[in-house]
Amino acid sequence: MSLSSVLFSEAKKFIPGGVNSPVRSFSGVGGTPVYFDHAQGAYVFDSENKRYIDYVGSWGPMILGHAHPEVIAAVIQSAEKGLSFGAPTAIETQMAAKICALLPSIELVRMVNSGTEATMSALRLARGYTGRDKIVKFEGCYHGHSDSLLVKAGSGALTLGVPSSPGVPAALAAETITLSYNDIDAVRQTFAELGEQIACIIVEPVAGNMNCIPPEPGFLVSLREVCDQYGSVLIFDEVMTGFRVDLHGAQGLYGITPDLTTLGKVIGGGMPVGAFGGKRAIMEYLAPLGPVYQAGTLSGNPVAMAAGLATLELISVPGFYVELTAKTSRLLHGLQLAADAAGIGFTSNQVGGMFGLFFTDQTPVSRFSQVLACDQERFKRFFHAMLGQGIYLAPSAFEAGFVSQAHSDADIAATISAAATVFQQI
Ligand code: PLP
Repeated sequence: MSLSSVLFSEAKKFIPGGVNSPVRSFSGVGGTPVYFDHAQGAYVFDSENKRYIDYVGSWGPMILGHAHPEVIAAVIQSAEKGLSFGAPTAIETQMAAKICALLPSIELVRMVNSGTEATMSALRLARGYTGRDKIVKFEGCYHGHSDSLLVKAGSGALTLGVPSSPGVPAALAAETITLSYNDIDAVRQTFAELGEQIACIIVEPVAGNMNCIPPEPGFLVSLREVCDQYGSVLIFDEVMTGFRVDLHGAQGLYGITPDLTTLGKVIGGGMPVGAFGGKRAIMEYLAPLGPVYQAGTLSGNPVAMAAGLATLELISVPGFYVELTAKTSRLLHGLQLAADAAGIGFTSNQVGGMFGLFFTDQTPVSRFSQVLACDQERFKRFFHAMLGQGIYLAPSAFEAGFVSQAHSDADIAATISAAATVFQQI
């Protein structure tokens, strides 16, 4: 029995399903989750010190790789001054100024502790600001686990087969209108019928929770137009894409200005951080300036801000995203050649340092229905065989993968070589 199996059995005695976030349990791929002990650069090491090349990166935050010395130093320095004061600190303003500078659509920003909190709060703000209750989201997108957003959701909810969770009041779920990603006609039709009642559209500008689906040309700009026409708030959920696909987010990459943006993952550098921000007129509706309430004991925590700010500084260097994008492309190109050589129906999507792998003969994969139609059983075999070769991919066919600055050319080559072996077996 592996040490991970022993640790998992013990965990299940005290923690529901043995995990503090469901998709970690490997329920999407079967088997026992790997228990990690430490990580460095592009590698995670399990409790028996086996090394894996990591393409999960803690589900996105570790864009610099693990335990970057400057991030760790910033955390230690901050922790030595005290962990939390529950009062304003100068570093919160530095963080806010940095976010506003990198994402010009954000005039004011509020820090929270997770992506879920960010989207939940942005939604309340959009509803408070517009005086409307209905929201529009897209099937297969995941925006965290608050009630309004856990309707036809992606990510772990989809992996576990509960995209619409019991426990969400039916009356609240009825206010969530779920449409098909990349289907602008459905959006226009819905707004033609109900536009005056719709507070906001919330969208992942690159969908990363149904694997990785880029927006089709014109999709995001049409969302902008529809929101302008009906006075609805356009929320870009950039919890995953923010500082992952480009230094200026998906909004910078595609040249669209949302009204509100939600952030998480990279802005915490591995610490629990989220943020939401946007147009001054909307953000001023928040307490203490306005009537919409939102708060947090640990929001803007100085240690978390130190990790996040150090990360944002390090990714702001010229050429960072050019290199990250090129490296990710090399990985995907190599995987495609290896799959073709083995005669496996395979394709991939990529935006910046974010990618998706699909076992299918259809290309491109741009709709949720296509993702569902991929060969999930082959993905499971691929996942486990790659794990055996020391490559750690997301344990679900509905999650994006991530490359970090720390992945070397040798890591990319080793991953392609492992896949060439694995493709012959699956
Ligand atoms: N929004 C998006 C796009 C996400 O990918 C996630 C998490 O994966 C969330 C929101 C929720 O963030 P958190 O898990 O930090 O609550």
